[in-house]
Amino acid sequence: MVETKLLINVTEEIVVGLVGFYLRGVEYQTFCHCDKCERKIIATTLNAMPSYYVTNEQERNEAFAKLNTDEQVEFMNSTIIHAIHTVGKAPNHL
Ligand SMILES: [Zn+2]
Repeated sequence: MVETKLLINVTEEIVVGLVGFYLRGVEYQTFCHCDKCERKIIATTLNAMPSYYVTNEQERNEAFAKLNTDEQVEFMNSTIIHAIHTVGKAPNHL
């Protein structure tokens, strides 16, 4: 079987960074910051977005450029904020 660890989902890389950034910001300080909730927010966001797989560094750079448009950034931000609120209402651990 082919090695699949070299498949990179660029959407996932971006979302992981953005969720970490949001959760540590002032606006979301009242939401749970534990690893379980952070992972759940990332998973919820990624399930609502198209994935963008690449197989090498050059494709990765091209993907970052393609995803860095106002429209894409806006879509990602609203999907993440929605996920933060969804998980915040029903945390993984009560
Ligand atoms: Zn939590």
